[in-house]
Amino acid sequence: MKNTQNAGIQFTDTNTQSSRWAAWLALSLLGLGTTKAAVTIADQGRTKYHIVVPVGAIPSERYAAEELQRYLEKISGAKLAIVSDTEKTESREILLGDNAHLAKLRTEVDFTKLGPDGFVLRVDGSRLIIAGGRPRGTLNGVYTLLEEKFGARWFTPELEAVPKLERVRLPKLNETIVPVLENRDVFWRQFMRNADFAARHRVNGQHYSLTPKHGGAFTVYHPFVHSFDGLVPPELCKEHPEYLPFINGQRKSGYVQRCLSNPDVLRISIERVRQWIKEHPQANIISVSQNDTFNNCQCEQCKATDDAEGSPAGSLLKFVNAVAGAIEKDHPNVRIDTLAYQYTRKAPKTIRPRRNVIVRLCSIECCFAHPLETCAAKENQRFRDDIVAWGAVAPLLYVWDYTTDFGHYQQPFPNFDALQSNVRFFVKHGVKSLFEQGNYSGGGGGEMEPLRAYVLAKLLWNPETDVQKHINEFVNAYYGKAAPKILAYLDSIHRPVREQAKHIHIFDKPASAYLSEDVMNAGERILDEAEQMAENDDVRFRVQVARLPVWYVKIASNRVTGDARTELLKRFVAIASKAGVSNISEGKSLDEWGKKLIVQ
Ligand SMILES: [Zn+2]
Ligand SMILES: [Zn+2]
Repeated sequence: MKNTQNAGIQFTDTNTQSSRWAAWLALSLLGLGTTKAAVTIADQGRTKYHIVVPVGAIPSERYAAEELQRYLEKISGAKLAIVSDTEKTESREILLGDNAHLAKLRTEVDFTKLGPDGFVLRVDGSRLIIAGGRPRGTLNGVYTLLEEKFGARWFTPELEAVPKLERVRLPKLNETIVPVLENRDVFWRQFMRNADFAARHRVNGQHYSLTPKHGGAFTVYHPFVHSFDGLVPPELCKEHPEYLPFINGQRKSGYVQRCLSNPDVLRISIERVRQWIKEHPQANIISVSQNDTFNNCQCEQCKATDDAEGSPAGSLLKFVNAVAGAIEKDHPNVRIDTLAYQYTRKAPKTIRPRRNVIVRLCSIECCFAHPLETCAAKENQRFRDDIVAWGAVAPLLYVWDYTTDFGHYQQPFPNFDALQSNVRFFVKHGVKSLFEQGNYSGGGGGEMEPLRAYVLAKLLWNPETDVQKHINEFVNAYYGKAAPKILAYLDSIHRPVREQAKHIHIFDKPASAYLSEDVMNAGERILDEAEQMAENDDVRFRVQVARLPVWYVKIASNRVTGDARTELLKRFVAIASKAGVSNISEGKSLDEWGKKLIVQ
């Protein structure tokens, strides 16, 4: 499969890696220095600038000023005062948000075009303008400036890298940045455990506990997904079996869908949605989505619609549109969300989602080793057909995507080659939101979590970002002297899926061919060397955590037996526990798994 090989990430193993990030940073800052600087914000630890916030600033704009002050001080040694725009105008100012001092200038910012997350970065005379839409634009602008213009990096909640500069200068700037994805959701614990870190990466989903100082979240769902049992409860269906799906000649109960052509099912659902909106006034998306099973209704009426539309998405979307139509007038800012998932993934022939209906398309069946757009696996070809069809008709197409092995959170999941192509592919087909599901369990810590979460956040913010650069920077900063070996290891686990075109899926077993004994043994040898190269305890521990996957495969596929197995299992559990890992898979805790195996 040549095409995927060419699209692969270069996990380069060279001796110069450890200094690569530093070298890149020096170069880029040198670039700033040699371009004719328009403004010098600080020089030798001194500054003539202050930060001006609007008198009516919202919490996230005030926090934007504090973050800018904090990081400019780390970078330059100079602490800029924060003042209100009721103070008199000075020539050396950093103007944040929709600011009275900005209004006095000739330069204009069209806030209506920036949305809730976009911003303008502009140098006007000796002033720097960071002006964004509410509620998150200005804060996003501050982080983009710090990261892209001054070289600050937030690798993990605990590890940041901030350059120290004698002179903080900027060339003439005039950039308007509005992220192409309105909702950016990396569903990995790494971001959920620290809201400040999530905000710095400009992810804006609902699971990060983002507060008003961060500008809150873009999406606030109620309920989050699979809501049929909540809409038309099973107890009610006991009295009214006609609400249940008709399957093989009878109404089926248990964990099933509902009869969507039944007028009472619609009436009750609309009432329930109105009630949910009342009870959850902060929710801007109400989920009217199928349960996490098949069991859809095949009564005469439901079936007639599905047959005519060529997909069970027909009766579903007809129903969801009716709910959305009923509430739209009273609640114009609330969207109704449904899934295009498993049996409803294929778009209907003629029924179109209303303008207030979100369709969340799920890639659960796909191969993730190779780009969705080019992988030859049949499941990917089918997904391509579905996204093309939905993309053409859905005004609000969201995607629920998958980035780990859910049956084995610690198992190598060699998907780095495809991440960027897939994000680009989604965007090309009109997707407005990406939900990248990973290990979201309480303790997090899945295979390569810190790197994977970091790269995903970078991609969701900017699908055209330089992934290669981010991987190199991250690995060098996080793994220190062991970095070249970590890159070599990543290369070694990606090679089988590149060279032998092996496909990977989210419930693959530890005995899968791409995790062969040879591959895992080679990986372990490299990580052995990595551990020896680690320069301190922090780095050594990070390498040990990166090693858990090769041990996991060894243990879980029974390639090690007897005392050696017990010994390895104990070491595994000790390191995983120290790393805070709570779950070994979506359904099983580390404790439960470890105990069961030790007893065996
Ligand atoms: Zn029916
Ligand atoms: Zn594939």
